[in-house]
Amino acid sequence: MSATGTLTTPLGGPSLPQERRLVTSIPGPRSRALLERKAAAVAAGVGHTAPIEAVAAGGGVVVDADGNSLIDLGSGIAVTTIGNAHPKIVEAVQAQVAQFTHTCFMISPYESYVAVAEALNRITPGEFAKKSALFNSGAEAVENAVKIARKFTGKQAVVAFDHGYHGRTNLTMALTAKAMPYKSGFGPFASEIYRAPLSYPFRDGLSGADAAARAIAVMEKQIGVDGLAAVVIEPIQGEGGFIVPADGFLNALVDWCRANGVVFIADEIQTGFARTGAMFASEVFGIVPDLITTAKGIAGGLPLAAVTGRAEIMDASHAGGLGGTYGGNPVACAAALVAIEAFEEEGLAQRATGIGDILTRRLTALKAADPRIGDVRGRGAMIAAEFVDPATGAPDAALTSAVAKSCIADGVIVLTCGTYGNVIRFLPPLSIPDDLLEEGLDVVAAALAAH
Ligand SMILES: *Cc1c(COP(=O)(O)O)cnc(C)c1O
Repeated sequence: MSATGTLTTPLGGPSLPQERRLVTSIPGPRSRALLERKAAAVAAGVGHTAPIEAVAAGGGVVVDADGNSLIDLGSGIAVTTIGNAHPKIVEAVQAQVAQFTHTCFMISPYESYVAVAEALNRITPGEFAKKSALFNSGAEAVENAVKIARKFTGKQAVVAFDHGYHGRTNLTMALTAKAMPYKSGFGPFASEIYRAPLSYPFRDGLSGADAAARAIAVMEKQIGVDGLAAVVIEPIQGEGGFIVPADGFLNALVDWCRANGVVFIADEIQTGFARTGAMFASEVFGIVPDLITTAKGIAGGLPLAAVTGRAEIMDASHAGGLGGTYGGNPVACAAALVAIEAFEEEGLAQRATGIGDILTRRLTALKAADPRIGDVRGRGAMIAAEFVDPATGAPDAALTSAVAKSCIADGVIVLTCGTYGNVIRFLPPLSIPDDLLEEGLDVVAAALAAH
């Protein structure tokens, strides 16, 4: 491994050439034909970012049906962190699928589910007895974390934060801050959900201590601690704009929760599994959550999610109160075991830090030359640029969306985010070669210069 953590053996992928290659305009004719079928057959509410038909992916590229090879700076939203179609995942999945595909863990338990729980209990922060429960999606994990916290405390209220994103199911819509597109027209929402102000250093200029005092005042004076079961927060906001809270903010919240008998739930669905340069972002801030929700990067692309935390909290539910037909599917568990082993043994947190160094260097240079980039922030392979009107600092969503569209048309998949839609986020797979990442950022710079 080099100084920036470049892996000597490339991870992942059905040995695809690691190159940006455009043989048609995007979308090409085959992709266009699929998107026509999609428009006719798939509900309009299910959108897409890149107008392509994906046929293969690995390393740092996604290949489309027209033979274009796009640089992947999104990992399918921080999912294929260890690399798409990672050879060890493929092998583990193939072996498991030939053995059995499902029994339902609540009917006939199997070893891989237990092994995933053991691994999560071991690698999550906190030197205390832990237990886990497995689910299918991030939203389902968050819902269950709230159920567990309510059952344990005997209280009902839950606090989420400005700019927070926790999913699209009914309870998690209530926890999610942003109305459009996540909530608009989909109410009524679950009750006993409250919102507190976040620490957003670029926009509020507050120290971590001051931002925490502001949030705690809302919780004490407006919500009341008597009925408060849990606080749910992403250590770094994902969909909300890769907002890194000021130093001390999260620590003060954890201390306050502990002093007031409130369960602190860290939603690490986007930040978990080496993404931020540590196994979990909680470690970056030196906090130890009571419960932690995980999904996305956990199983190399297979659907799996978990709640992990203090054994006495996790055990509060009566038998049969937690679970689901597919939760902890054996194929997903087989993949997760391989992924977790790779995170631990292949130095992937270090690789995320190396990628973060490249992203930060390039985006900081762009910011120095172009005042429309107001802020560059994030940790590890989770870095974003926030676009603003240089005169007023107002969010510039139009520029953001135009730059992102140009990047995709030029063969680089980038994702936007942010409450104001003015953030481009970079979440490359950790298997991306350095030169491909640099080329992707060249395309971003050219797209910005052209607008
Ligand atoms: C993606 C995400 C979720 C929801 O996960 P799904 O698997 O899409 O249900 C919840 N919380 C955070 C922080 C996320 O990034």
